[in-house]
Amino acid sequence: MIKSIKIFAPATVANLSCGFDVLGCCLDNVGDEMNISLVSEPGVKITKIEGADLPLETHKNVAGVAVEALLKAYDKMVGVHIEIYKKIKAGSGIGSSAASSAGAVWAVNHLLDEPFTPHDLVSFAMEGEKLASGNAHADNVAPALLGGFTLVRSYDPLDVIKLHSPKDLVMTVIHPQIEVKTSDSRSVIKQNVALKKAIQQWGNVGGLVAGLFTENYDLIGRSLEDVIIEPLRSILIPEFKAVKEIAMAKGALGCGISGSGPSIFALSKGTETAKIVSEAIRSVYIKTGLDFDIHVSPINNQGIKLINP
Ligand code: ADP
Repeated sequence: MIKSIKIFAPATVANLSCGFDVLGCCLDNVGDEMNISLVSEPGVKITKIEGADLPLETHKNVAGVAVEALLKAYDKMVGVHIEIYKKIKAGSGIGSSAASSAGAVWAVNHLLDEPFTPHDLVSFAMEGEKLASGNAHADNVAPALLGGFTLVRSYDPLDVIKLHSPKDLVMTVIHPQIEVKTSDSRSVIKQNVALKKAIQQWGNVGGLVAGLFTENYDLIGRSLEDVIIEPLRSILIPEFKAVKEIAMAKGALGCGISGSGPSIFALSKGTETAKIVSEAIRSVYIKTGLDFDIHVSPINNQGIKLINP
């Protein structure tokens, strides 16, 4: 082994109500750990996975595919070993595959003394996302790599913008342990949008971005509204309506589907409100008899972090 580092690869919440496929934010205390090493024998190997039943074959694991995309651009013979300690469950809607793709490319770039910009890393990590979902989306890998809130302004050419992150924002996320098939969550979405709804939606995206930059929590709350995707997708998530109602009644700024679900997020001002919201959501879910996890996390403005040995 030549060099090795241990990292925290964070979970992320994509879409953020109005920002379907373009907005996302990074969590601080929910995420995987990874050990990444440079080794003398060239090639990329996944040497260990704990906490989840995921493929060890490099070309079937998003971390392997993302690092191979980076090494193709680096164009020198490099050997990489990857160990993944999964805490984020795959298919949860909080960026499980994104944490692995983004974490792996960030760590390899760090070990190679940073030949690539964070923006380059987003495009390599998107290759991992393409493997996971068939679509090279950036709304989870961008916040994992850049931290805070991010906007994918354009996919072609890729243009990712880091937004301002007001320090009092805290996320509550519930992950009901049910399977929502990606094919189902895709099939309920309509391909065409009525102009009236599109106007509401881009008004909200602009309002949310303005609210983040000016730290206007009321404006953030007013803008966390999705009139296009949520009404269709929320039917796949048990008790979505009850969770949203109670979260808003307990003071959340907004509440919506995290990624393509089944996780639900509620964004609050301050940890105290986020904890009250978390308890209220728990009281709804306990009655369903379903297994679930709840996380309360500040926004992580840094993204992926080194863990000191
Ligand atoms: P999430 O809904 O939490 O964002 P995804 O649906 O994006 O999770 O990713 C899960 C899919 O990616 C699963 O099919 C899983 O088998 C595949 N996958 C491949 N490698 C990994 C990895 N290292 N971590 C997580 N998922 C992976």
